[in-house]
Parts: sequence; C-alpha cells; structure tokens
Amino acid sequence: MSVDSIYFSPEADAFRARTRRFLDEHIAPRLDTWEAERRIPREVWKLFADEALLGPHYPRAYGGAELPFFHSVAYLEELGRLGSGGFRGALSVHSYMATAYLHLAGDHRQKLAYLKPAVEGDMIAALAITEPQAGSDVSALACTARPTPGGGYAIDGTKAFVTNGMTADFLVTAVRTGESPGPGGISLFVIDARAPGVTRTPVEKLGWHCSDTATVRFEDVRVADGGLLGRKNSGFVWIMKAFELERVAAAVLAIGEADRALELARRYTAGRQVFGRPLTSHQMVRHRLAELISQVEAARQLTYHAAWLYSRGRPAMSACAMAKLRATELAVDVTGQCLQLFGGHGYLDEAPIARLFRDTRLDTIAGGASEIMREIIADTEL
Ligand SMILES: Cc1cc2nc3c(=O)[nH]c(=O)nc-3n(C[C@H](O)[C@H](O)[C@H](O)COP(=O)(O)OP(=O)(O)OC[C@H]3O[C@@H](n4cnc5c(N)ncnc54)[C@H](O)[C@@H]3O)c2cc1C
Repeated sequence: MSVDSIYFSPEADAFRARTRRFLDEHIAPRLDTWEAERRIPREVWKLFADEALLGPHYPRAYGGAELPFFHSVAYLEELGRLGSGGFRGALSVHSYMATAYLHLAGDHRQKLAYLKPAVEGDMIAALAITEPQAGSDVSALACTARPTPGGGYAIDGTKAFVTNGMTADFLVTAVRTGESPGPGGISLFVIDARAPGVTRTPVEKLGWHCSDTATVRFEDVRVADGGLLGRKNSGFVWIMKAFELERVAAAVLAIGEADRALELARRYTAGRQVFGRPLTSHQMVRHRLAELISQVEAARQLTYHAAWLYSRGRPAMSACAMAKLRATELAVDVTGQCLQLFGGHGYLDEAPIARLFRDTRLDTIAGGASEIMREIIADTEL
C-alpha cells in the first residue's frame, strides 16, 4: 500500500490505506448502478465528509482536518484509481475546485456560510467559469454582473459544462463586472443555485456518466454585495491561482486512472490464454506493459514534484501545467493500449476498461486543454 516515496509521511500512507479501504468497500461496488442511473446519490457526500475526505486540507474552523497537502495527493490518486471519471470529477470539483475559491478569496462569513457546509457534506458545490463562447480563453467571458440601485448585483448570462450543475446548492461563478474587455474586469460570486432566475439544464456526454453536467442560465439573478468573493475585478488573479491546484489535482487523478487501467490489464493478461499460453507470457505483451508502467512512474514523479512545489507555495504554474499535460496525455494513451490487450472483451459497455477509456478522454480537455498547458509551459520556459 505504501508508495515508498520521499513525499509521503507514515501518516499520509495510513490515510491512503484507510481511504482505499473506504472506497473499495463503500463506493466501488455501487459505481455501476450510479453510472447506469447517471447520478450520484446526495448521501454520498455525507459519507465522504464522515471520512474527512471533502477537504482534508481545509482549516478546522471550516470543517476540514488541516492535513498536509500530500494527504490530498494520496486521496486523489485513490479516487482516480476507482476508475470512474464521472465520480472522481464530481468529488474533486467539489473539494479542489469550487470550494478552493471560497478558501482563497472568501471572507469569514462566506466561509461559514458555504465552505463549512460543503466540507461537512451538507452542501454540494459547483464551479461555473466556462461559457458557450469562452472556454480556454477565460478572459473572453461575457456573463455580466451589474450593480443594482440600493446595493447588490444582477447577473445575466450562460455558463456551460458545469459539473454538479444540477445538484449543486451553490455556484462559484466568474462574471464580468468591469467595463473593459479582457482579464481585468472579472469578479467571482457565490450564487445560490436555487435563486430566482437560475435555470439549469442537464447535458448528455460521451462518458463521465454518473456525474451531472449542466448548462446554467442566469436571468436577472439578484445577488447581495456579500456574494462577491474577494475584491471587485480581482477574479482573474484568483482563477489563475486556483488553476494551479486544479491542474495538479487533475494530474494526480490521471495517474490514479492509469494505475487502474494497468491493474485491470495485468490481471486480465495473466489469466487470458492465447495460442496455448497466457497473454503475459508473450514478450510483446510483457514489454508493452513494462513500457507503460515505467511511463506512468515517470509521470507520477513529475506530478509529485509539482505537488511538492505547490504545497510549499513555490512558483508552480509551469510545473503544474507540465504534470497535467504529461499525466493526462498518458492516461489517454494507457487506457487505449490496455483496452487493446482485452481484445473484444474490452469494448463491451460493461467492461471497466471501456469506462476508463471513455472517461479519461476528457482529461486532456477539461481544466485547461493540453494545448493551453503547452502555451503556459512555453510562456514560462522559453
Ligand atoms: C464533462 C465536462 C465537465 C466540465 N466541468 C467544468 C466545470 O465544472 N466548470 C467549468 O467552468 N468548466 C467545465 N468544463 C469545461 C472545460 O474546462 C472546457 O471544455 C475546456 O476548458 C476547453 O474549453 P472549450 O470546450 O470552450 O474549448 P475551446 O476553448 O473552444 O478550445 C477548442 C480547442 O481549441 C484548442 N485551443 C484553444 N486555444 C488554443 C490556442 N491558443 N492554441 C491552440 N489551440 C487552442 C483547445 O485546446 C481545444 O482543443 C467541463 C467540460 C466538460 C466536457
């Protein structure tokens, strides 16, 4: 169970072991049902909260356990290893994306009202940045908040691809508050998902079946001044800061997914007889697996290094982009190559490797596509 790594304390190893037991006993056996039903029951959030998994890194004052960041790394790796992109997407958006903005930019009152109940499993969080016409280019977003007479704001616009969008209790939302276009005029608001004027419409997807994804429309949605996170027009700075965490988390999750694919392929190829002997006794199969295992190990170490820089508060933008690029591209490759080793059995809808193949395809797109990661690396390193 121990990954025998300089980055993990014995406590983090024990946390990993406990987390794996919890996921294997209470979550893995139910995933097929939730995938088929295309939902995650609300009580699951409470189960995770009881295990201190909805934000192990957050302060105790807001329901967290104040655990070192590598406890989160261990948790996220195990979450990826479950082999459901939809499930890990829903949980990681809640704990490492949407609530991250409350932690970074929220005041004490906002943290008590939203972060604490989210960490304790009483509220579900979603993050609404992407728009139909603004994805990779966050600075192009067009959703607006205009001040209303007597205080507060009225929000108008549409957000796309909102994970947990249908079930969320609140939406951390990026909107334009400045007159001028570009990154300077963006602010963050926490918006009650059931406020008048909010319309949520589910979208169907290639994979990530148990995760709900919504298009969210805001029409004259009234938000009090207390809904503004941080200073007006400071949103872009917080988004760039939170992207470091989002990307290193995405890399860790992708490593967990690649581990899972390799685990499934090793088990299958050891048992599958072809031409009178197990698949693994064919040198080509052994070498393919050995190659993939070593590539995953290399990406894992790069990812741990990025996580270490991030956890120390060192400049980590480029390292997090490198980790996200390498780990997610590799997860797509590994799941494809492992599916090939299953032959036709890997193509069946019910096959766990088929779900991984569908679900990891999103890894190189969401949370900053590979092309954007290369841009960040080039901007920093060249
Ligand atoms: C299932 C799912 C869940 C999601 N969850 C969330 C969520 O919870 N919250 C949220 O805010 N968003 C979410 N997203 C949105 C996701 O982050 C975006 O899809 C992603 O950032 C890409 O934006 P886009 O889809 O608008 O693509 P575009 O920005 O239109 O890009 C299209 C293609 O062009 C490439 N490209 C863009 N710019 C350049 C460039 N300068 N040079 C070269 N190539 C370029 C991109 O890499 C991509 O391949 C989710 C998406 C999906 C599918």
